[in-house]
Amino acid sequence: MVAQPSVISECSKGSESVKTARSRDDELWFEDGTIIIIAQTTEFRVYKGHLARRTDVFKDMLSFPQPTRSAVSSEDDQKFPCPVVHVTDSARDWRIILRLMLSAEEQGLFSKSRPDPSFEVISACVRLGHKYQMNSIYGQAMDYLKGHFTDSLFIYKKTPTFMPPGFEHLKYAIGVVNLARLTEEDTILPTALWMCCRMGADIVSGFTYSDGERETLSSPDLGLCFVAKARLLQATTLAYMQTFADLPAGICALKDGDDRCRRALRELSDIKIVAAITMPNPMSIYKSTLPGADAPQLCKACATAITQRQVQRQRESWAKLPSLLGITVPGW
Ligand SMILES: [Zn+2]
Repeated sequence: MVAQPSVISECSKGSESVKTARSRDDELWFEDGTIIIIAQTTEFRVYKGHLARRTDVFKDMLSFPQPTRSAVSSEDDQKFPCPVVHVTDSARDWRIILRLMLSAEEQGLFSKSRPDPSFEVISACVRLGHKYQMNSIYGQAMDYLKGHFTDSLFIYKKTPTFMPPGFEHLKYAIGVVNLARLTEEDTILPTALWMCCRMGADIVSGFTYSDGERETLSSPDLGLCFVAKARLLQATTLAYMQTFADLPAGICALKDGDDRCRRALRELSDIKIVAAITMPNPMSIYKSTLPGADAPQLCKACATAITQRQVQRQRESWAKLPSLLGITVPGW
């Protein structure tokens, strides 16, 4: 469903009392602009052509004759038709989008000057892009999210972190979950929810945008994370127990009676399990060596066997991730 912006029927000096509560945006108010967009208490005056080219919703709206157009007084008292569009979105999101549209180097959302967009930028692009069918902006922003919050184990293994460089803090995973829910882009949901499960108290308080608006997880998603965190910790602990369990007879290359590998395995499991059970990450790969030159070390054959176990466990954990989180993702 696409929300239609509304064009108000009258914008003249008669509405001055309403307008006093509003202010023109310092940057995005052009005296020769051909459309006024009002978001919250901010007025933007920009160009119809920019909007019509990039958003199907505005293109459709502006393609019809609009009897609702009326004269708007500019600073120098000139009058010319200028539609005024009220939107229900935040001024913050519209400022970001209009700035992108009017940018001289708008070849792409992520140009050299914007290599690592903030979550605030991505969020605006996804929210308004989705709502107003800004296909290019939405596509670029969603591709960026999918590139980080991946559904590919291969990509995860190359870059085992999901948070994009510009997002700065794990708490923005909350925003990614909400974007996934809004757009029904299921593939970014598991890793975003997983990141939420790694958060501390921030998972409840959420995060704050630059204009003071706070965003939190929905109550159902918050509950889901509490349950999922316990499941992930169980899976992590089980994975480590399985990884460092005694190896079957015949694998160790040491002579009979040499129990260095057995001792090393036991110490590995003791040391690693403490780290494992405090972090809900059944995907983690740990070194199969013990610190210290005099510590017992695994022989090459045993180390290889442990590595194979870890790779297998990682593959299984990745496949189980949605079910551990309590969600279903078609095709995962
Ligand atoms: Zn061995």
